[in-house]
Amino acid sequence: YHAKSRGDHALCWESSLDKHVASRMTLEQDLRQAIDRDQLYLHYQPQLNAEGELLGVEALLRWQHPELGMISPAQFIPLAEETGLIFRLGRFVLEEACAQMVRWQEVGLHMPRMAVNLSARQLTSGYEHEVISVLESQNLSPTRLEVEVTETLLIQDMEGGLAVLNALRELGVRVALDDFGQGYSSLSYLSSLPLDVLKVDRSFVMKMDALAIVDSGNRCPNHQATQLIGAIISLGHSLGHEIVAEGVETEAQFEGLKQLGCDSYQGFLLARPMSADAIVERFMTVS
Ligand code: C2E
Ligand code: MG
Ligand code: MG
Ligand code: MG
Repeated sequence: YHAKSRGDHALCWESSLDKHVASRMTLEQDLRQAIDRDQLYLHYQPQLNAEGELLGVEALLRWQHPELGMISPAQFIPLAEETGLIFRLGRFVLEEACAQMVRWQEVGLHMPRMAVNLSARQLTSGYEHEVISVLESQNLSPTRLEVEVTETLLIQDMEGGLAVLNALRELGVRVALDDFGQGYSSLSYLSSLPLDVLKVDRSFVMKMDALAIVDSGNRCPNHQATQLIGAIISLGHSLGHEIVAEGVETEAQFEGLKQLGCDSYQGFLLARPMSADAIVERFMTVS
């Protein structure tokens, strides 16, 4: 009985492993073809100031898989990085995002800025030339483009990555540190990075309106989280950076962040990532 049950278990485990490996390889093949088959497209999430004015959008990649439906970038971006497909994907994102800026211009919507996420592997030496060629082909000013990089990215390949970021900034492209607070930055490290923007990670913003129970048993807003974000905002400002809050979901967070002097806000409360057409519908003012 024991032997049989163990055997069955092993068999079952093996086949699910096979399935897993197979599906991973299939997914990789599917991703390879996704660009040519028009399954990849961008959504855009607005970034607003405290007055609700549109400062720009962040381009977020979407994959509509024919059988599996929508697959999250959190799943396929790592796969693209491991397989090297990220170079083609990254090129597609940059071209499409810049082309969209021109299309918005043509219908009369002025979009101040476009932010694009970059993977570690894309930031190899000479990458700035790809950016220049795409901007030139769309006749778009570098000052309208922002690139978002993460701390882990910079730790992996300091030298090469930093050189590219410096070159991009010299052109006028803005550099944002994404998901700030998730990584391992020391303060001295942070101050040495060539940055224009700090994006405060959603995990900090989330904690802001978690209720703390104080001595009397009353509940009150979590001051510790609020103070921490306040400190990040002053630090960022003292380094000359603009601060963007990510993942703003509640009025309480929005109000709290405004009081702390945050510059820019992004999150479901203000706007979800949406299609280019939906951006026009929401932000085009008829004059
Ligand atoms: P990210 O760059 O930090 O992008 C923000 C993510 O937070 C997006 O998820 C967005 O939909 C989500 N988000 C925005 N506001 C809220 C909110 O209020 N609440 C919650 N819960 N989530 C919110 P998404 O689109 O699934 O993207 C996930 C990650 O995938 C991105 O995180 C980015 O790291 C990566 N990614 C997306 N597009 C690209 C791309 O074109 N290239 C690269 N290299 N990475 C990308
Ligand atoms: Mg981002
Ligand atoms: Mg982020
Ligand atoms: Mg993130």
